[in-house]
Amino acid sequence: MRGQAGDGALSLPVTSDLEQAVVELADTLQEKEFDEGDTTWPDCTAGHTHPPTAAVVDGVACWQCPRSQAALSRIG
Ligand SMILES: [Zn+2]
Repeated sequence: MRGQAGDGALSLPVTSDLEQAVVELADTLQEKEFDEGDTTWPDCTAGHTHPPTAAVVDGVACWQCPRSQAALSRIG
């Protein structure tokens, strides 16, 4: 914490931490699922053979193409 929050300082919105946590959780779960051979995760862009990666895009947890960096869909 930075002390005084909410007075216009460069404090990150609470959602940033939450979205980042979602991404890390999704990443962990994705690896676990792949280890178990369960590929129920969303596909990447049509024609792509790689799975999407979890990332925060504009403050929102999304699946993102690791090649084009394009956001695919929200996680959740
Ligand atoms: Zn892709």
